[in-house]
Amino acid sequence: MFSWLRQKKKIKKALQNQSLQQALANASSHHFQKFVATTKEINWSEYKKRAKAIKKECLRKLPQLIQQFSRQAQQSGAKVYQVSTGSQALSLIEKILLQKNAKLIVKSKSMVTEEINLRGYLQQKGFQVVETDLGEWIIQLAGDRPSHLTAPAIHKRKEEIASLLSHHLHQKIPADPQLIVKAVRQEMRKFFIEADVGISGANLAVAESGTLVIISNEGNARLVTSLPPVHIALITVEKFVETLEQAASLIKALTVASSGLKLTSYVSFITGPSRTTDIEKELIIGAHGPQEVHIIILDNGRLKINQDKDLQQILSCLKCGGCMLICPVFQAVGGHIFGGPVYPGGIGVLLTAITKSPQEARRLFDFCSDCRKCEEFCPVSIPTSQLILKLKSSKGPNMIEKSLSSFFSRKELSKVLTRLFYFMQKPWEENGYLKNLPFPLSSHKLMPALKLKNHRLSKNQQGEKIYLFEGCLTRFFFPEIRESVRRSLSHFGYRVISPPEQSCCGAPSFHLGDIKATKRLARINIESWQKENPAYIITVCPTGNSMLTKIYPQLYPEFSSWAEKTFDFSQFVCQKAHLLQTKAKALKPNSNLFYHYPCHYINSLHLKEEPLKVLKAIGFFPQVEEEPLTCCGFSGVFSWKQPEISARLWQKKKDKIIKYNPSFIATDCPGCLFQLRTGLHEANSPIKIYHTAELLAEALNKDKRSDD
Ligand code: SF4
Ligand code: SF4
Repeated sequence: MFSWLRQKKKIKKALQNQSLQQALANASSHHFQKFVATTKEINWSEYKKRAKAIKKECLRKLPQLIQQFSRQAQQSGAKVYQVSTGSQALSLIEKILLQKNAKLIVKSKSMVTEEINLRGYLQQKGFQVVETDLGEWIIQLAGDRPSHLTAPAIHKRKEEIASLLSHHLHQKIPADPQLIVKAVRQEMRKFFIEADVGISGANLAVAESGTLVIISNEGNARLVTSLPPVHIALITVEKFVETLEQAASLIKALTVASSGLKLTSYVSFITGPSRTTDIEKELIIGAHGPQEVHIIILDNGRLKINQDKDLQQILSCLKCGGCMLICPVFQAVGGHIFGGPVYPGGIGVLLTAITKSPQEARRLFDFCSDCRKCEEFCPVSIPTSQLILKLKSSKGPNMIEKSLSSFFSRKELSKVLTRLFYFMQKPWEENGYLKNLPFPLSSHKLMPALKLKNHRLSKNQQGEKIYLFEGCLTRFFFPEIRESVRRSLSHFGYRVISPPEQSCCGAPSFHLGDIKATKRLARINIESWQKENPAYIITVCPTGNSMLTKIYPQLYPEFSSWAEKTFDFSQFVCQKAHLLQTKAKALKPNSNLFYHYPCHYINSLHLKEEPLKVLKAIGFFPQVEEEPLTCCGFSGVFSWKQPEISARLWQKKKDKIIKYNPSFIATDCPGCLFQLRTGLHEANSPIKIYHTAELLAEALNKDKRSDD
């Protein structure tokens, strides 16, 4: 309870911290602009496909690649060590430093050194350790910890940095990035030259040649690994690739995702210590670069995870950090709140579970809204939110989550409670909304009133049978969507049924970690389809669609053929319903209509053009939000668990919508509809919000209300 309250306090503080908010907004926007510009010039989806395949292949061969690398690196004169735990790595590094009588150590940025707290450990043992990456040095001076994988000081604005450095360097440094960098460069020179040992990580390790690959922009990693007489590299086991060609592909993908550049300023390939054969071809080790290279390969729980066919995907992470800059939750609260003690963001939650413990990651699970923007962006397509959900369901729901899940998964219970709520809601009802409820059900002060309308069968007895899978929000709040789908598809000659025995899709239970309840609900729905045997199943919610087409086949592979018959409403209308031949026009076709993309529509169903085609066919010219698309903040269970963050996401969405000044908004998700209608009603906005199905039905039924 106390830790929950502490966490809520921290979230509030982060949301109110204007400096943090501005720093995160600037960093995300700069990164996205560069990324978009570069991906226009390259075949990004091809880069991603190749990078994913390489990682998969290399993880499959991991033990043999590590062996091959060790052999090759030793042949080239490096010393190679393999250790299982962080404390073994620390002792080994300390031993090497003592043998070399080292006093001053320069470090380049490396998350694995953060993972084992190398700097803290060595400082405690009396060594002087200087971080040479600008962001990391700022963090060191501030006594802080990184909040991003590649930009550790992303949470600090230039004014804070200038004041920190002014204090440390005893001179006035203006809040001008150019001048800050100049001052740091001057100060750092002496450390590079005087250091006894340089410590680095590595982005990749190439087995065929025993080569370390280090990518950097600042140039500090080059100096750290080449000026001091000894170089120690600490790498983790998942970094191995087989060939230099594979390394080149991963470098390209990593660089674009990380910085939006085609290539970083420096890519170092290090194969053993420096050497020369310039005098009579005799090999002399130690020319201008280090005389000794020590490579420490650390496992820390990774090889065990490599055995799990799902969680193994975590090891594909290239640590580019791009997913965080695209993540709405990270953008709202930063990596100190959304992330583990070392690794930030959604992927950080997963890495915490591996490198620390699943218990430590547990408190972080509920930060992920499952919007899947990160998966869509990731150069190796890691399904971060699904892996978080897998870990969550393996721990099971707590008591509160279990009770909430029961509400959705026990049909009789939810029927009784919704009826009860329906009759009790009257005192709070005003114009179709419930105001001043004693218990908040979302991040808003109001919510749409419950509407319990009976199911109606299509009068059209001809044509192929369509099973409309409604989902809870349509059933309890927006029965008008059900009616619109029925009318539209009847118009196109289908027979639409919507049997009352269908149940919740299971998404709330799934997100609450209650896999048993999810299975029970899936079973009820599958049995209903088996009984009705429709030609198609139509959904009006992308989350529901994703459950039916992606999760059900995992739970019941024997019934996976239903997934092939399941379509999203707009997708079905475009593909099967001869939509483009319609002559129907909406009532106000030329009015200013804004289309809101639901996150799951884009990132899970990978649909984009379909609703726009439907809207254009009935005379609208929908405006679409300029990328990056923002999340409306609904996200089901997330908005109930993280109302403060959900409210911030909605605020950002609302600000964007208002800029477009629409008269109407269309969307294809009842969850988004819930959020948009509630939020805009709360803001006294006259904007009307519809499901695409409603606008289509209105256009088709304008002249001929045939099916009523
Ligand atoms: S699914 Fe969304 S909220 Fe979760 S980590 Fe990915 S981008 Fe962030
Ligand atoms: S999960 Fe993907 S996008 Fe995020 S840091 Fe790893 S590789 Fe980059």
